[in-house]
Amino acid sequence: MVGAGRFAPSPSGDLHLGNLRTALLAWLFARTTGRDFLIRVEDLDRVRPGAMDRQLNDLRALGLGWDGEVVKQSDRLPLYAEAIETLNGRGLTYPCFCTRKEILQAPSAPHAPDGAYPGTCRNLSVSEQAEKLATGRNPALRLRSHTDSFTVTDTLRGNVTSAVDDVVLLRGDGVPAYNLAVVVDDGAQHIDQVVRGDDLLSSAPRQAYLATLLGITPPVYAHVPLALNTDGKRLAKRDGAVTLSDQRALGRGSDEVLTMIASSIGLAEPGERVTPMHLAERFDTQKIPHEPWIVATDDHADPSELP
Ligand code: GLU
Repeated sequence: MVGAGRFAPSPSGDLHLGNLRTALLAWLFARTTGRDFLIRVEDLDRVRPGAMDRQLNDLRALGLGWDGEVVKQSDRLPLYAEAIETLNGRGLTYPCFCTRKEILQAPSAPHAPDGAYPGTCRNLSVSEQAEKLATGRNPALRLRSHTDSFTVTDTLRGNVTSAVDDVVLLRGDGVPAYNLAVVVDDGAQHIDQVVRGDDLLSSAPRQAYLATLLGITPPVYAHVPLALNTDGKRLAKRDGAVTLSDQRALGRGSDEVLTMIASSIGLAEPGERVTPMHLAERFDTQKIPHEPWIVATDDHADPSELP
């Protein structure tokens, strides 16, 4: 069977140049390896009205076509419930009553990495659980992990090992957590290649571990560098002309934006006209820079020059 790659945006706002670059890279990785390219909208969390359609229009405008229907996570709740049931049935979950503050204040478990869940609720007795439930708190559901770390393969980074803790599977409000949904969807959609921003690199081992528990073969990853502003911070709306529509407002067409993004990965000369198909012919994973892309937006003047 042909495998698939994917781009999985969260519809919390417009895609910025860094997101568009990740989308182009995901498209190139999939297309140059004979895979399908799928779009999955990760809408279980913050959703801004109209953002999904604008994101899809931007991908189309750059010429990044996809296969099949766009999948939305909010349409797939039964699939996540089924996975939870499987894990429950194997004793691999437990309810967690901790608030964020309690987790931050709890002493961390020996050898646990920063931010790892300290395991406070892992061994509560049934009566302790009942007591906590009686206080009216809605528990989250966590994975009862049986490993401390896991290794994944990343095309750009080699073998990457990082910590696996008891991740949240279902939030206290009953919404499936990102780490569960992403694993279930990648498995159900036969996605065997995950290209995404390297802010998610340290999540890959725990997602891959969870996949193995669900009988899913972990994908091969390629975590690509993020786009940063000239202060070295993650690119954001306040940085100026960061979206395709901002760039259009400055008189740049989608083709010019594609060139700008392609030249940031060594695939086009500045000003050259290219299409995604041209880029696929030139694509070489060895050439992808390992450093962040520094984006200097030029739509606002230096404040010192303002009258
Ligand atoms: N929805 C996530 C984001 O937009 C990406 C998740 C993933 O690619 O695994 O940051």
